[in-house]
Amino acid sequence: MRKLIFCLFLGVSASFAAAQQYDAVIEGGRAIDPETGLDAVRNIGIRDGKIARITPDTLSGVRVIHATGLVVAPGFIDLHQHGQDMASQRVKALDGVTTALELEIGAPDVAQFLTAKEGKSLINYGTSASHVAARAAVFGAPLPAGTILPKSGPATNQPATPEQIEAIRARLRSELDAGGLAIGMGIQYTPGATRLEVIDMFRLAAERALPVYTHIRSAGRVEPGSGIEAVSEVIGAAAVTGAALHIVHINSSCLHDSMECISMVAGARARGLDVTTEAYPYIAGMTAINSALFNPGWREKLGIGYGDLVLPDTGEHLTKERFEELHNSSTTHWVLVFANTQEIVDKVIPNPLVMIASDGVEGHPRNAGTFSRVLAEYVREKGTVTLMDAIRKMTLMPAEMLERSTSAARHKGRLQEGCDADVVVFDPATIHDRATFQKPMEPSVGVRYLLVGGTVVVDGGKIIDGVFPGRALLGPGKELISRAGRDPE
Ligand SMILES: [Zn+2]
Repeated sequence: MRKLIFCLFLGVSASFAAAQQYDAVIEGGRAIDPETGLDAVRNIGIRDGKIARITPDTLSGVRVIHATGLVVAPGFIDLHQHGQDMASQRVKALDGVTTALELEIGAPDVAQFLTAKEGKSLINYGTSASHVAARAAVFGAPLPAGTILPKSGPATNQPATPEQIEAIRARLRSELDAGGLAIGMGIQYTPGATRLEVIDMFRLAAERALPVYTHIRSAGRVEPGSGIEAVSEVIGAAAVTGAALHIVHINSSCLHDSMECISMVAGARARGLDVTTEAYPYIAGMTAINSALFNPGWREKLGIGYGDLVLPDTGEHLTKERFEELHNSSTTHWVLVFANTQEIVDKVIPNPLVMIASDGVEGHPRNAGTFSRVLAEYVREKGTVTLMDAIRKMTLMPAEMLERSTSAARHKGRLQEGCDADVVVFDPATIHDRATFQKPMEPSVGVRYLLVGGTVVVDGGKIIDGVFPGRALLGPGKELISRAGRDPE
């Protein structure tokens, strides 16, 4: 019952005004809310950016959206989205996403990220504080503008001195003060970070009562350095520090041992640790080819060869020579990494512990197609995930994860009176992804309407131009700092 109270307060006051006209009414859709278990035809009244009324009764609205035969659900929350430009936001919106956050690695400069997006964002946004960027800066090799991953070199491969670790911590503290929602750690991209450096960063997260989102140190089965070892490292760091831990893309980090890694997450949770995970529904990953992920030994670790690396723009399969050229380049080229199997992905996605998160970046179809693909392939075609559970993985579970960072998340991921009117209206019979490895930015079809904070951004399957209702989700550092600025007490 605890969970039912989050949005109710506003709902009570809103019901007094039930006879009035709403800003918008979504009429006659199949309303689904995983937290309350609602799955019934309802009319939804929206006022002042909030869901003001959910009822079988007829409502009157300035705008009426006819949703007969369509599913009405909380807008999808993507915890893991790198592409934050307008082109990516548009395909995310058409995939049902109302909030897309850069939490895995984090924007290199939180304040700059937030300033650049304010008033210019289609959907809600936010970022973690980047350990990768802090480390790069402290090593005197700051990330080039527009990049989030460093080129492999001394700054990624060497251990930090105690003084450097202190400087990394100081920078992360100020990034959290600027509004970072968590600490983002791409440990595989900073292999020089010792186990102690990792624990120190978890300690900092615990000190702020914030989670760590992490791309773990390693993938594959070769020991030492297996995916299992890498999961053990971060679960251990969470256990000894008390920081909450979110392991990103368990599909691509654990590959053939994905189900073992999920069982480790389950075991940690059963023993009281706050550990969560996510996956995306594709067999290939994608990353920067000049990063430390491709330090010597990557073929043995991942069990793949040069030809399994593919350039997204041209479809070129790499050779040894071409790989060397691109890996040594100071220009960042993105590369698709075909290292997983459909069989494994098909086991990972239905697991009840696994949230859906896209790891979206231009050049990979997961950017545009992740959420629709799960609804089409796993709910409709394979039947291995119920519609309610799929929506839970895309809304309530990520919202609950975000509550560790901001109380604002209590009003998201839920279709309840008083909650934020971030709402997706889609056709369950036709929704599907169209993005492919050849055409990765093809938008999904089937999302008929999308509302962000009550503003319609997708209308009849089309993006509305010139509306920017997206708002920032901010970590408690920013709130504390601004509160302190107003009131010295
Ligand atoms: Zn990653």
